[in-house]
Amino acid sequence: MGDSRRVSYFYDAEIGNYHYGQGHPMKPHRVRMTHNLVVNYGLYRKMEVFRPRLVSPTAMTRFHSDDYINFLRVITPDNMQDYIRPLQRFNVGEDCPVFDGLFEFCQLYTSGSIGGAARLNENRVDIVINWAGGLHHAKKAEASGFCYVNDCVLAILELLKKHERVLYIDIDIHHGDGVEEAFYSTNRVMTVSFHKFGEYFPGTGDVLDVGYAQGKNYAINFPLNDGMDDDSYESIFRPVIGKIMEVFAPGAVVLQCGADSLSGDRLGCFNLSAQGHANCVEFVRSFNIPMLVLGGGGYTLRNVPRCWTYETSVLTGEKVSDELPFNDYFEYFGPDYRLHLPVSNMENLNSRAYLDKTKNQLLDILSQVEPVPSVQIQTGQIDSQTNPRSMAMEVDDEPPAEESNPDARVTREDTGRKEHASELAA
Ligand SMILES: [Zn+2]
Repeated sequence: MGDSRRVSYFYDAEIGNYHYGQGHPMKPHRVRMTHNLVVNYGLYRKMEVFRPRLVSPTAMTRFHSDDYINFLRVITPDNMQDYIRPLQRFNVGEDCPVFDGLFEFCQLYTSGSIGGAARLNENRVDIVINWAGGLHHAKKAEASGFCYVNDCVLAILELLKKHERVLYIDIDIHHGDGVEEAFYSTNRVMTVSFHKFGEYFPGTGDVLDVGYAQGKNYAINFPLNDGMDDDSYESIFRPVIGKIMEVFAPGAVVLQCGADSLSGDRLGCFNLSAQGHANCVEFVRSFNIPMLVLGGGGYTLRNVPRCWTYETSVLTGEKVSDELPFNDYFEYFGPDYRLHLPVSNMENLNSRAYLDKTKNQLLDILSQVEPVPSVQIQTGQIDSQTNPRSMAMEVDDEPPAEESNPDARVTREDTGRKEHASELAA
């Protein structure tokens, strides 16, 4: 079938109804705008479109602490004054505001990512897309950087039920700190993040932060300066990811596609075009490994839907015209009404010498990774390369308590309700 892949796409129209608050840069609405473009380009016809079944709060505690998840369930704009201490403790209230439906919002985007991972595990599809996901900053017991529940971590834990090794790649302009921290001491997950570094949120992601204990050399960080352009990005992304594929040989990949690395982002300072951003997606896709594709940051409302729609076309292998089809948000995309976005003439502060030096540093670190044997040998030893178990988190297959009833398990196999095509027509 040449270059086609079986692609699933998770979407729930409710996601666009949540508001972080007046003036807040994070707008869940951009996912609905993306979906509207995807529908009007006819791309949804090339994918299985699913509305995920909601995951339980218990499923979120496979990574997060019970008291943090309980707090997210009960906190509302009306009862905040009764929770002053917990708000501080869990870092909720400023960057990560309390808003109506906060927990349902978390449940929705997390369901797409965990449900997507489950679908990949069942080998029903090759690629799953969840543009509402990718909230990579959330910590075990702390909200951070507009993120509350870390769907990336939870999806990786789901993939680890089936796959010995999972690769996480992050092309958001911010360091993927929450995911890195979660898997910092395991060699079953390699995290790699390309990000702006130096006086920039969240402040972590130095090239020398390479992982700990069993996880040493399994955290890869490429710190960057302002003005990264398409050519510079490609010149580092391909060799680093190519080397990782060679030495780590992941069974599945999670790709966080934060669009705040695009030119002209409200919070970002890179200079990528949608084409340059999507080149990363296309390169990862070319390895033909089960792939979960997530959204993330992205704060210039007219650019994010264009980038993620183009990436949807790349993932499905369908060519789309640069001329935007008429859609519900047409006025956002003027005056040119094009899918592709222009870059600026800003200076690229990443010199060739700096990029080469850092790339070579990372290739050196990766050359210290024990290459995965082409044939897996089951030694049975808990700490061996082929059977590592060094994670603080539960990754076994025990079903959560509330799903122990066999009827519930049956519905769980069908991770989503299939959406009728007519529901999606514009
Ligand atoms: Zn970001």
